[in-house]
Amino acid sequence: MSWREALNDDGAKVARRERWEERVKLLEGRAEAARAVLDGAAPCPPIVNDRIGRASAAVETAARVAEHNYPPYASAHEAYGVLVEEVAEFFDEVRKKSHLRSKLAMKNEAIDIGAVALRIVALCEEGGPW
Ligand SMILES: [Mg+2]
Repeated sequence: MSWREALNDDGAKVARRERWEERVKLLEGRAEAARAVLDGAAPCPPIVNDRIGRASAAVETAARVAEHNYPPYASAHEAYGVLVEEVAEFFDEVRKKSHLRSKLAMKNEAIDIGAVALRIVALCEEGGPW
């Protein structure tokens, strides 16, 4: 590997790390904003696109169905395990070649992830059994 290739390789690593750090900052900012809304410290942002409303409704419905059919998570570890299982199911679909990937299956797994996350948030909000 020439010095130029090594430099480019390091440059690519730095660029990837910078993009990753920007992404983490963006996600942390979103989580902070969501916590502020949950705590009542900030107003809920206005609805600008109905797809978020429809997605939220789907996640809420799935969470309510799960809440009706299953007991609350007995521990933080159980909640984590269920969440990881749903993320793994999402990844099973994502890692397929694009022509074999099903958007419906990805959407359903994303809804499952959201429903589990919503139940975890609700349990944390009410103090949780853990
Ligand atoms: Mg699932």
